[in-house]
Amino acid sequence: MERLRRHRRTKIIATLGPASSTPEMIQQLFQTGADVFRLNFSHGAHADHAARIEMIRAVEKRSGRPVGILADVQGPKLRVGTFQSGRVQLQTGSQFTLDMNPAPGDARRVCLPHPEIIAAAEIGATLLLDDGKLRLRVLRKRDDHLLTEVVTGGVLSDRKGVNVPDVVLPIPALTEKDRADLAFALPLGIDYIGLSFVQRPEDVEEAKAIAAGRALVLAKLEKPQALDNLDAILDRAEAVMVARGDLGVELPPEEVPIAHKRIIRAAQLRGKPVVVATQMLESMISAPAPTRAEASDVATAVFDGADAVMLSAESAAGQYPREAVNMMDRIITRVERDEDWRAGLDAKRPQPEKTSADAIAAAAVQVAHTINARAIVAFTESGATALRVAREKPDCPVIGMAVSPPIARRLAAVWGVHAVVTSSVHSMTEAVEHARRIARREGFAAKGEEIVVVAGMPFGQAGTTNALRVAAL
Ligand code: PGA
Ligand code: MN
Repeated sequence: MERLRRHRRTKIIATLGPASSTPEMIQQLFQTGADVFRLNFSHGAHADHAARIEMIRAVEKRSGRPVGILADVQGPKLRVGTFQSGRVQLQTGSQFTLDMNPAPGDARRVCLPHPEIIAAAEIGATLLLDDGKLRLRVLRKRDDHLLTEVVTGGVLSDRKGVNVPDVVLPIPALTEKDRADLAFALPLGIDYIGLSFVQRPEDVEEAKAIAAGRALVLAKLEKPQALDNLDAILDRAEAVMVARGDLGVELPPEEVPIAHKRIIRAAQLRGKPVVVATQMLESMISAPAPTRAEASDVATAVFDGADAVMLSAESAAGQYPREAVNMMDRIITRVERDEDWRAGLDAKRPQPEKTSADAIAAAAVQVAHTINARAIVAFTESGATALRVAREKPDCPVIGMAVSPPIARRLAAVWGVHAVVTSSVHSMTEAVEHARRIARREGFAAKGEEIVVVAGMPFGQAGTTNALRVAAL
């Protein structure tokens, strides 16, 4: 296969599921534009996910390009129990009890097998059922049940989700199931852990302790409580997701875009990858083309400088996974040709922090712009140097020279970075030689054109970024 170079900066994450789990389909999604694949541990057995990981790594091997894997764990997704008849109709204005009795429910009661929620809910608190379609208000609270009034009625069926936007859940973001899923997935070689329903910085710390450096922790921001702790969470998380599905259930619609923009800005200030997710091309689950509003949504994320846009059900369970990836690729490519896109990124460029790494990154971006360099080649031990350069949103591509496949795979999710695995170098002369060869081989620069090389000396040590060179091919 020809070595694949993407002609866009914004990355695409595609969720794999029943519609996209053959080697052929994964290969096609990758060739069409997926840079990272997401495994959703809310669905599917361990064996399904293991098979997908194997297929992804096979695609990676054939293409010679690093591919990222995001293992998204379910987190404390609350659900009601089951009903005698599978579903009930709740009448607006009636009373409904949530209790701890595992017996199948009816129109008067159902099990809510989460005693901590019953304990934490206050009178007057809102409970949202089935992605917010039904709304209950707590009237009375006892040790073992909540009596509620049905504020918005409708059909409620087995195991539907429960959201409690007003309540800080006294439960960690990692459930027993999540721990088991991570114990299974981490040894198989995943690159990011998607941590659901993060509420506090400690949730992130806990996941990082489990990851123990084997994967980065991507905090999914989908609780209003997380927005109250946004800075502390972002300081600890290694990447973030604007998880608009659950966030949209817990917040009124008009608050979602505000939170969305705020999360992106805060992540960009810190130079942490930020993913915009959920419902981006929702109608493509069952149609070969998106609505124009959806196309604009993807475009907005690109204008905002998000690192990646994500497909959920569109690629996991929809009828048009390839078309959805292709559509994202087309929208991104088109936006990135627009002058306003570049001007917007320049206007929003964050100040460098007072570190030598940022000084070098900012200088590299400036130099590359001035001499119209074809690429900034960043030698990176931990991935940090490439991230700091990417944070500046340079107007040429960044080639991330990673010393190991796991670091290159992490960079697959990062704005503007084309990651390459290289053998370690020992001197700046050797680094420049390498950079020249890779820039040529990967199709970034031709004879006579210039590149900017950044590196840290001594080589082989993370956190030493201190050198910048201009080289011609
Ligand atoms: P989910 O997370 O798809 O795992 O629910 C994303 C979201 O809520 O937007
Ligand atoms: Mn979610």
